[in-house]
Amino acid sequence: MELQFLGTGAAEGVPAMFCKCDTCREIRKRGESEYHTRSQLILDDTVGIDFPPDAYYHALRFNVDLAKLQYLLITHSHMDHFYAHDFILRGYKYCSELSSPLTIFGNAEVVKIFAECTRRELRTEVAQNIRVREIQPFSPFSFGKKEDGEYTATALLAQHSKTERAFVYLIEKGEKAYLHLTDTGRLPTETLDYLEKYLTAKNKTVDLVTFDCTFLFRTAGEVSRHMGLEDNKAMQTEFLRRKIADGHTRYAITHYSHNNEPFRETLEKAKAEYGFLPTFDGSKIEI
Ligand SMILES: [Zn+2]
Ligand SMILES: [Zn+2]
Ligand SMILES: [Zn+2]
Repeated sequence: MELQFLGTGAAEGVPAMFCKCDTCREIRKRGESEYHTRSQLILDDTVGIDFPPDAYYHALRFNVDLAKLQYLLITHSHMDHFYAHDFILRGYKYCSELSSPLTIFGNAEVVKIFAECTRRELRTEVAQNIRVREIQPFSPFSFGKKEDGEYTATALLAQHSKTERAFVYLIEKGEKAYLHLTDTGRLPTETLDYLEKYLTAKNKTVDLVTFDCTFLFRTAGEVSRHMGLEDNKAMQTEFLRRKIADGHTRYAITHYSHNNEPFRETLEKAKAEYGFLPTFDGSKIEI
Protein backbone atom coordinates (compact mmCIF):
# COMPACT_ATOMS: atom_id res chain seq x y z
CA MET A 1 0.00 0.00 0.00
CA GLU A 2 1.41 3.37 -0.98
CA LEU A 3 0.32 6.37 1.05
CA GLN A 4 0.76 9.93 -0.12
CA PHE A 5 0.11 12.75 2.33
CA LEU A 6 -1.09 15.67 0.23
CA GLY A 7 -2.07 17.99 3.08
CA THR A 8 -0.63 17.89 6.61
CA GLY A 9 -2.01 21.02 8.30
CA ALA A 10 -4.93 21.82 10.59
CA ALA A 11 -8.15 23.57 9.50
CA GLU A 12 -6.70 27.07 9.00
CA GLY A 13 -3.58 25.81 7.17
CA VAL A 14 0.07 26.75 7.76
CA PRO A 15 0.47 29.63 7.07
CA ALA A 16 -3.08 30.27 8.27
CA MET A 17 -5.38 31.91 5.77
CA PHE A 18 -5.87 35.25 7.54
CA CYS A 19 -3.01 35.15 10.06
CA LYS A 20 0.02 37.37 10.53
CA CYS A 21 1.58 35.72 13.60
CA ASP A 22 5.38 35.32 13.69
CA THR A 23 5.14 31.66 12.63
CA CYS A 24 2.92 32.39 9.63
CA ARG A 25 5.12 35.31 8.56
CA GLU A 26 8.23 33.12 8.74
CA ILE A 27 6.57 30.21 6.89
CA ARG A 28 5.43 32.59 4.11
CA LYS A 29 9.03 33.78 3.82
CA ARG A 30 10.37 30.21 3.58
CA GLY A 31 7.85 29.32 0.88
CA GLU A 32 5.89 26.35 -0.41
CA SER A 33 8.18 23.57 0.87
CA GLU A 34 7.19 24.49 4.46
CA TYR A 35 3.46 24.92 3.84
CA HIS A 36 1.07 22.52 5.57
CA THR A 37 -2.25 22.60 3.75
CA ARG A 38 -5.51 20.96 4.79
CA SER A 39 -5.70 17.23 5.50
CA GLN A 40 -5.74 14.81 2.57
CA LEU A 41 -4.25 11.36 2.07
CA ILE A 42 -4.41 9.02 -0.92
CA LEU A 43 -3.74 5.29 -0.96
CA ASP A 44 -2.61 3.64 -4.20
CA ASP A 45 -4.18 6.44 -6.33
CA THR A 46 -7.74 5.10 -6.03
CA VAL A 47 -8.62 5.47 -2.34
CA GLY A 48 -8.70 8.78 -0.49
CA ILE A 49 -9.04 9.76 3.14
CA ASP A 50 -10.79 13.15 3.39
CA PHE A 51 -11.29 15.77 0.70
CA PRO A 52 -10.35 19.31 1.78
CA PRO A 53 -10.71 22.67 0.02
CA ASP A 54 -7.04 22.27 -0.98
CA ALA A 55 -7.65 19.09 -3.04
CA TYR A 56 -7.48 21.07 -6.28
CA TYR A 57 -4.20 22.73 -5.27
CA HIS A 58 -2.81 19.33 -4.20
CA ALA A 59 -3.68 17.85 -7.59
CA LEU A 60 -1.80 20.64 -9.37
CA ARG A 61 1.18 20.77 -7.03
CA PHE A 62 1.81 17.02 -6.80
CA ASN A 63 0.52 15.98 -10.21
CA VAL A 64 -2.25 13.82 -8.76
CA ASP A 65 -5.05 12.55 -10.99
CA LEU A 66 -8.17 13.07 -8.85
CA ALA A 67 -10.28 11.34 -11.53
CA LYS A 68 -8.68 8.06 -10.44
CA LEU A 69 -10.22 8.30 -6.96
CA GLN A 70 -12.99 5.72 -6.66
CA TYR A 71 -13.45 5.52 -2.91
CA LEU A 72 -13.34 8.26 -0.32
CA LEU A 73 -13.33 7.64 3.41
CA ILE A 74 -14.37 10.78 5.26
CA THR A 75 -13.42 11.15 8.91
CA HIS A 76 -15.97 13.85 9.80
CA SER A 77 -17.81 16.84 8.41
CA HIS A 78 -15.45 19.68 9.42
CA MET A 79 -14.73 21.69 6.28
CA ASP A 80 -10.98 21.02 6.35
CA HIS A 81 -11.79 17.32 5.90
CA PHE A 82 -14.85 17.43 3.68
CA TYR A 83 -15.31 20.25 1.22
CA ALA A 84 -18.29 18.84 -0.64
CA HIS A 85 -18.92 21.81 -2.96
CA ASP A 86 -16.18 20.63 -5.33
CA PHE A 87 -18.07 17.46 -6.28
CA ILE A 88 -20.46 19.40 -8.52
CA LEU A 89 -17.49 19.59 -10.91
CA ARG A 90 -17.20 15.81 -11.34
CA GLY A 91 -19.07 15.55 -14.64
CA TYR A 92 -21.25 17.58 -17.03
CA LYS A 93 -19.35 20.30 -18.95
CA TYR A 94 -16.75 20.56 -16.18
CA CYS A 95 -15.15 17.24 -16.90
CA SER A 96 -14.83 14.83 -19.82
CA GLU A 97 -13.88 11.14 -20.03
CA LEU A 98 -14.83 10.28 -16.47
CA SER A 99 -15.77 6.64 -16.31
CA SER A 100 -15.58 5.24 -12.81
CA PRO A 101 -18.14 6.16 -10.17
CA LEU A 102 -17.05 7.60 -6.85
CA THR A 103 -18.25 6.19 -3.54
CA ILE A 104 -18.02 8.41 -0.48
CA PHE A 105 -18.20 6.74 2.93
CA GLY A 106 -18.90 8.79 6.03
CA ASN A 107 -21.07 9.35 9.10
CA ALA A 108 -24.64 10.73 9.11
CA GLU A 109 -23.38 14.32 9.24
CA VAL A 110 -21.17 13.80 6.18
CA VAL A 111 -24.19 12.53 4.25
CA LYS A 112 -26.12 15.62 5.36
CA ILE A 113 -23.30 18.05 4.49
CA PHE A 114 -22.94 16.51 1.02
CA ALA A 115 -26.62 17.17 0.33
CA GLU A 116 -26.42 20.67 1.80
CA CYS A 117 -23.31 21.80 -0.10
CA THR A 118 -24.32 20.38 -3.48
CA ARG A 119 -28.05 21.25 -3.29
CA ARG A 120 -27.89 24.27 -5.60
CA GLU A 121 -25.41 23.17 -8.25
CA LEU A 122 -25.25 19.37 -8.52
CA ARG A 123 -26.64 18.25 -11.88
CA THR A 124 -28.47 14.94 -12.17
CA GLU A 125 -25.90 13.43 -14.54
CA VAL A 126 -23.12 14.25 -12.04
CA ALA A 127 -25.10 12.95 -9.07
CA GLN A 128 -25.65 9.62 -10.85
CA ASN A 129 -21.91 8.97 -10.76
CA ILE A 130 -21.45 9.66 -7.03
CA ARG A 131 -22.72 7.45 -4.25
CA VAL A 132 -22.72 8.63 -0.65
CA ARG A 133 -22.91 5.82 1.91
CA GLU A 134 -23.50 6.21 5.61
CA ILE A 135 -21.33 3.84 7.61
CA GLN A 136 -21.41 2.74 11.24
CA PRO A 137 -18.48 2.49 13.64
CA PHE A 138 -17.02 -0.92 14.51
CA SER A 139 -18.46 -2.53 11.40
CA PRO A 140 -15.79 -3.52 8.80
CA PHE A 141 -16.70 -3.16 5.11
CA SER A 142 -14.85 -4.10 1.94
CA PHE A 143 -14.42 -2.33 -1.36
CA GLY A 144 -12.17 -2.37 -4.41
CA LYS A 145 -11.63 -4.83 -7.22
CA LYS A 146 -9.95 -8.19 -6.68
CA GLU A 147 -7.43 -7.51 -9.48
CA ASP A 148 -6.13 -4.22 -8.00
CA GLY A 149 -6.40 -5.38 -4.41
CA GLU A 150 -9.34 -5.34 -2.07
CA TYR A 151 -9.53 -3.09 0.96
CA THR A 152 -11.30 -3.56 4.25
CA ALA A 153 -11.98 -0.41 6.23
CA THR A 154 -13.31 -0.10 9.76
CA ALA A 155 -14.55 3.21 11.10
CA LEU A 156 -13.66 3.67 14.77
CA LEU A 157 -14.91 6.33 17.14
CA ALA A 158 -12.61 9.32 17.59
CA GLN A 159 -12.56 11.74 20.50
CA HIS A 160 -13.25 14.88 18.54
CA SER A 161 -16.74 16.31 18.28
CA LYS A 162 -19.80 16.71 20.48
CA THR A 163 -22.14 17.22 17.54
CA GLU A 164 -21.28 14.23 15.36
CA ARG A 165 -19.65 10.82 15.63
CA ALA A 166 -16.21 11.59 14.15
CA PHE A 167 -14.32 8.57 12.83
CA VAL A 168 -10.75 7.41 12.54
CA TYR A 169 -10.00 4.42 10.30
CA LEU A 170 -8.30 1.06 10.27
CA ILE A 171 -7.57 0.12 6.66
CA GLU A 172 -6.40 -3.32 5.63
CA LYS A 173 -5.16 -4.58 2.29
CA GLY A 174 -3.97 -8.19 2.22
CA GLU A 175 -1.70 -8.64 5.22
CA LYS A 176 -1.09 -4.89 5.63
CA ALA A 177 -2.88 -2.76 8.22
CA TYR A 178 -2.87 1.02 8.50
CA LEU A 179 -4.32 3.05 11.36
CA HIS A 180 -5.27 6.64 10.48
CA LEU A 181 -5.80 8.76 13.59
CA THR A 182 -6.83 12.30 12.75
CA ASP A 183 -8.79 14.29 13.93
CA THR A 184 -8.83 12.87 17.42
CA GLY A 185 -7.60 13.29 20.97
CA ARG A 186 -6.46 10.22 22.89
CA LEU A 187 -8.66 7.36 21.68
CA PRO A 188 -11.79 6.38 23.63
CA THR A 189 -11.59 3.09 25.55
CA GLU A 190 -14.23 1.43 23.34
CA THR A 191 -12.05 2.07 20.27
CA LEU A 192 -8.96 0.67 22.00
CA ASP A 193 -10.95 -2.37 23.20
CA TYR A 194 -12.31 -2.97 19.70
CA LEU A 195 -8.88 -2.73 18.05
CA GLU A 196 -7.31 -5.06 20.60
CA LYS A 197 -9.98 -7.71 20.12
CA TYR A 198 -10.21 -7.38 16.32
CA LEU A 199 -6.46 -7.51 15.68
CA THR A 200 -5.78 -10.26 18.23
CA ALA A 201 -8.45 -12.42 16.57
CA LYS A 202 -6.67 -11.90 13.24
CA ASN A 203 -3.26 -12.46 14.82
CA LYS A 204 -2.17 -9.13 13.37
CA THR A 205 -0.58 -5.85 14.46
CA VAL A 206 -0.70 -2.59 12.53
CA ASP A 207 2.16 -1.72 10.17
CA LEU A 208 1.76 2.03 10.38
CA VAL A 209 -0.05 4.51 12.63
CA THR A 210 -0.49 8.17 11.68
CA PHE A 211 -1.16 10.36 14.71
CA ASP A 212 -2.99 13.66 14.94
CA CYS A 213 -0.21 15.95 16.18
CA THR A 214 -1.89 19.35 16.14
CA PHE A 215 -0.17 20.38 19.39
CA LEU A 216 3.35 19.06 18.66
CA PHE A 217 5.49 19.81 21.76
CA ARG A 218 2.47 21.03 23.75
CA THR A 219 0.56 18.29 25.53
CA ALA A 220 -3.18 18.19 24.86
CA GLY A 221 -4.08 15.94 27.81
CA GLU A 222 -6.85 13.40 28.36
CA VAL A 223 -9.89 15.34 27.20
CA SER A 224 -8.71 17.25 24.13
CA ARG A 225 -10.04 16.92 20.57
CA HIS A 226 -6.48 16.72 19.21
CA MET A 227 -3.08 15.44 20.34
CA GLY A 228 0.54 16.47 20.81
CA LEU A 229 3.68 14.34 20.92
CA GLU A 230 3.27 13.30 24.57
CA ASP A 231 -0.31 12.21 23.84
CA ASN A 232 0.95 10.25 20.81
CA LYS A 233 3.54 8.59 23.06
CA ALA A 234 0.85 7.66 25.60
CA MET A 235 -1.18 6.10 22.76
CA GLN A 236 1.88 4.23 21.49
CA THR A 237 2.43 2.74 24.96
CA GLU A 238 -1.22 1.70 25.10
CA PHE A 239 -1.03 0.12 21.61
CA LEU A 240 2.03 -1.92 22.61
CA ARG A 241 0.43 -3.01 25.88
CA ARG A 242 -2.71 -4.13 24.06
CA LYS A 243 -0.75 -5.73 21.18
CA ILE A 244 -2.37 -3.42 18.62
CA ALA A 245 1.22 -2.55 17.67
CA ASP A 246 4.55 -4.30 18.12
CA GLY A 247 8.24 -3.71 17.44
CA HIS A 248 7.76 -3.59 13.64
CA THR A 249 5.06 -0.87 13.74
CA ARG A 250 6.04 2.55 12.37
CA TYR A 251 4.54 5.88 13.44
CA ALA A 252 3.96 9.11 11.55
CA ILE A 253 2.58 12.49 12.66
CA THR A 254 0.38 15.01 10.84
CA HIS A 255 -2.26 17.84 11.11
CA TYR A 256 -0.02 20.60 12.49
CA SER A 257 -1.28 23.99 13.63
CA HIS A 258 0.35 27.40 13.11
CA ASN A 259 -0.01 27.92 16.90
CA ASN A 260 2.72 25.36 17.59
CA GLU A 261 5.59 26.46 15.30
CA PRO A 262 5.55 23.58 12.81
CA PHE A 263 8.82 24.56 11.15
CA ARG A 264 10.95 21.91 9.47
CA GLU A 265 13.41 22.00 12.40
CA THR A 266 10.57 21.50 14.95
CA LEU A 267 9.42 18.43 13.03
CA GLU A 268 12.98 17.07 12.76
CA LYS A 269 13.32 17.54 16.52
CA ALA A 270 10.07 15.59 17.03
CA LYS A 271 11.55 12.77 14.95
CA ALA A 272 14.83 12.79 16.89
CA GLU A 273 13.16 12.85 20.32
CA TYR A 274 10.14 10.59 19.74
CA GLY A 275 11.04 8.48 16.71
CA PHE A 276 7.84 9.47 14.88
CA LEU A 277 8.14 10.24 11.18
CA PRO A 278 6.95 13.77 10.40
CA THR A 279 4.79 14.03 7.28
CA PHE A 280 5.13 16.95 4.89
CA ASP A 281 2.79 17.95 2.07
CA GLY A 282 3.48 15.50 -0.74
CA SER A 283 5.46 12.93 1.30
CA LYS A 284 5.01 9.22 0.60
CA ILE A 285 5.21 6.17 2.85
CA GLU A 286 5.08 2.59 1.58
CA ILE A 287 3.88 -0.22 3.83
ZN1 LIG B 1 -8.85 18.87 11.03
ZN1 LIG C 1 -0.38 32.22 12.33
ZN1 LIG D 1 -12.07 18.35 12.93
